[in-house]
Amino acid sequence: MSKPAEKHNQFLSVILYSVIIIAISIIVSCALNGGTTSENSVAVSALAQKSGFQGKTIAVHFLDVGQGDCALIQTDNGKFLLIDTGTVESGEKVSDYLKQNKVKEIEYAVFTHPHDDHIGGAEKILKTFDVKHVLMPETVQTTTSFSELLKTLQLQKQEKKLQIISPKVGDRYSVGGTSFQVLSPLDAEAEDANNSSLVLKFVYKDVSFLFTGDAENKAEKEMLSRNADLDSDVLKAGHHGSDTSSTADFIKAVSPDAAVISCGKGNSYGHPSPSILDRFHENEIQILRTDLDGDIVFVSDGETYKIYKTK
Ligand SMILES: [Zn+2]
Repeated sequence: MSKPAEKHNQFLSVILYSVIIIAISIIVSCALNGGTTSENSVAVSALAQKSGFQGKTIAVHFLDVGQGDCALIQTDNGKFLLIDTGTVESGEKVSDYLKQNKVKEIEYAVFTHPHDDHIGGAEKILKTFDVKHVLMPETVQTTTSFSELLKTLQLQKQEKKLQIISPKVGDRYSVGGTSFQVLSPLDAEAEDANNSSLVLKFVYKDVSFLFTGDAENKAEKEMLSRNADLDSDVLKAGHHGSDTSSTADFIKAVSPDAAVISCGKGNSYGHPSPSILDRFHENEIQILRTDLDGDIVFVSDGETYKIYKTK
């Protein structure tokens, strides 16, 4: 039996701990609700889980892979999609990032087009993780890393029953409550590599992301000409923010709230183009850049989203 004085002390301790816990919760929730939050990369996956959203959430990670593209999507039922893999040099980083986010299986790995800055890390990913399906355009264009990748894919097709799919415009794939639809290319074989990029619209309830690979104005025009369903909340700006992409009409049709530019700091291509940054500013589109913001993560409950970044 506790004496009354001890009971009183215990009561005070409980009150004190409660006040501390409530204060910490308020500080954390203020940080989370403050819009864009800066965190270190390890904490990002934890933040994705602690975003404060009720019910199921998804996370869309744009990885800082220098001059290249790589996005990881966690679906509402805990599956993973990967869109591009960055360069050969960034393969290790991508692999580590995926491990930190508890990735073991990848439901769909999308290789948008056969350029090194998009598929360079693919071999490393295919050898490290259990990839179920690979989506890639049926392109005649090739590079050394693409030829090597094709050999690895053929081996894994036999050993691991990996499925290789060359999707057509209009094809839709569902994972949990999410889905993505192929918007381009109409005819990969007739196009140059950038314009053969697979363009995908990823949707979770009311929130959508448009992944454009390196599609340029020719592909943008083609999608506009057949009224493709481009309207999206978040745009992964085509071709690293180059002025070969993100034409005025295309941006008008997508009408995103935010644009993510995936590019390397001080890259020799001058990406992103100042004219494209001006276009985004004029249209009041929030700009996020992997060269300045590091890894960028959108966490969404399907109605709205919160943004976290590592820089
Ligand atoms: Zn590229």
